[in-house]
Amino acid sequence: MTGLSDSFQRPIDYLRISVTDRCNLRCIYCMPTDGICLLPHQDILAYEEIYTIVKATAELGINKVRITGGEPLVRAGLPKLIQMLAQIDSIDDISLTTNGVLLGHHATELKRAGLRRVNVSLDTLKQDKFKIITHSSNKLGDVLEGIEVAEAVGLNPVKLNMVVMSGINDDELLDFAVKTIDEGWHVRFIEFMPINSEGTITSQFVSVSDMRKRLEQLGELEPCLPSVGNGPAKYFRFPQAKGTIGFITPVSEHFCFQCNRLRLTADGKLRLCLLSEDEIDLKQPFRSGISLGGLKQLIKEAVARKPLRHHLAEGYVPKDRPFCQVGG
Ligand code: SAM
Repeated sequence: MTGLSDSFQRPIDYLRISVTDRCNLRCIYCMPTDGICLLPHQDILAYEEIYTIVKATAELGINKVRITGGEPLVRAGLPKLIQMLAQIDSIDDISLTTNGVLLGHHATELKRAGLRRVNVSLDTLKQDKFKIITHSSNKLGDVLEGIEVAEAVGLNPVKLNMVVMSGINDDELLDFAVKTIDEGWHVRFIEFMPINSEGTITSQFVSVSDMRKRLEQLGELEPCLPSVGNGPAKYFRFPQAKGTIGFITPVSEHFCFQCNRLRLTADGKLRLCLLSEDEIDLKQPFRSGISLGGLKQLIKEAVARKPLRHHLAEGYVPKDRPFCQVGG
């Protein structure tokens, strides 16, 4: 097999890059209630450092990158990073995951810099609920405007990710589904992972099979192909819909067997699995002057340590970092 692959022969071609641990929202599932201890600025990789690390991974076989966080759009000058990454020949897809609050301001510049597409996290269409879920003053209007601007400038398809939580926003499943019919939205429903809890599936969990049963009120869901990307979501559409519905099942049916990703944390650690604490530090060797060849060797050794699967089903939840520091 050419390119990069792990010890289970899974091709590894996708890197998710967290550019900051800062966020302008405080989502209940992501940020611990007592906040997090923010990384000191000197520990956060500079854009030039990220560029060189991505170049090394690209030479090994990575060809898709996604920028995430924290909230990536709170980091100053993000279009500059996109522009740098777009110059790496073998990187052919650059995407962004954002909460959308600042998207309306930055979408045009991001597109111009080379960003291809964007995923927006949106868990509710109701103002009061938005405040409860994000612990923030009302920014729902900004998010909705950001989605419109992103579509208008061609950051398509804009995918909307909803983490479905029982008793919090599961009453809005049908509202989101109707948007795929009436407005052509591409919505993905994500099972809630108990990342910050003590290791068991909480009562807020809603399985995808339960979601599907509820959605059947609107008609029969027909399987379809994703418009772009080959991630873990399974896609469907209602017969009359322009948009699609994706389901992501990290809890009820893990998709580790097809995992093709690595994660780079904002402080320069290569994380091999979202749900495993194993990380390899690239920042220190990099700042101590490691050669590009040495960096590539470190990355290859790290990939060889990628675990076969996560152990959420057995109740194992990593305790080292909250989601906002790993880059969801
Ligand atoms: N700030 C950006 C955003 O809001 O999209 C990027 C980072 S945020 C950590 C990315 C996404 O991870 C969340 O919006 C959500 O979709 C997902 N996420 C975070 N915690 C989760 C959890 N406990 N279960 C399922 N998904 C989660």
